[in-house]
Amino acid sequence: MANVQVHDKSFEIYLSEQTIQERIAALAAQINQDYAGKRPFFVTILNGSFMFAADLFKHLTIDAEICFIKLASYKGTKSTGNVITTIGLEDDLFGKDVVIVEDIVDTGKTLHNFLPKLEHQQPRSLKIATLLHKPEATQFPLTLDYIGFSIPNKFVVGYGLDYDGLGRNLKEIYQVIG
Ligand code: 5GP
Ligand code: MG
Ligand code: MG
Repeated sequence: MANVQVHDKSFEIYLSEQTIQERIAALAAQINQDYAGKRPFFVTILNGSFMFAADLFKHLTIDAEICFIKLASYKGTKSTGNVITTIGLEDDLFGKDVVIVEDIVDTGKTLHNFLPKLEHQQPRSLKIATLLHKPEATQFPLTLDYIGFSIPNKFVVGYGLDYDGLGRNLKEIYQVIG
């Protein structure tokens, strides 16, 4: 696959469509096993996770539910950091086996700020599935239960992930050149 240009940057192929799909099938097989006899409730964080969530969900053979949410963050007036507002989480997670679905965990800040909101609803269990993880970028440690690929600390696009709005439609994942 040739290099791609998105806006002003060039990207080279990093993960092929087949590599991504095989890994997702393996993650789903693990989830089918871990949640046998249960009914996990997947909370997908938009926008970047939409392709991963759809492909993962197709491979599930157990009963499972899914919802899609957006996180909007803004600086609070205090120096305590960002306040996270959740859009679309009307579901009551009390007593449910919740699996958060993320496209990529970079610094970990997004999930670090969001997890207390979910824990507040007292799910029975709470796990995280992320397609990509940049271990070198970690600033907010998290326990990641299902990781598709651990990748270097370089900007990636494709398979749902964007660069300034573009590139989400690519079937592969590309890494910025340089
Ligand atoms: P965090 O730093 O909070 O873990 O990640 C925040 C968000 O930044 C991710 O959910 C993702 O939307 C975006 N992000 C982080 N690294 C990358 C990357 O390499 N490529 C793209 N397209 N988005 C990224
Ligand atoms: Mg994300
Ligand atoms: Mg983005």
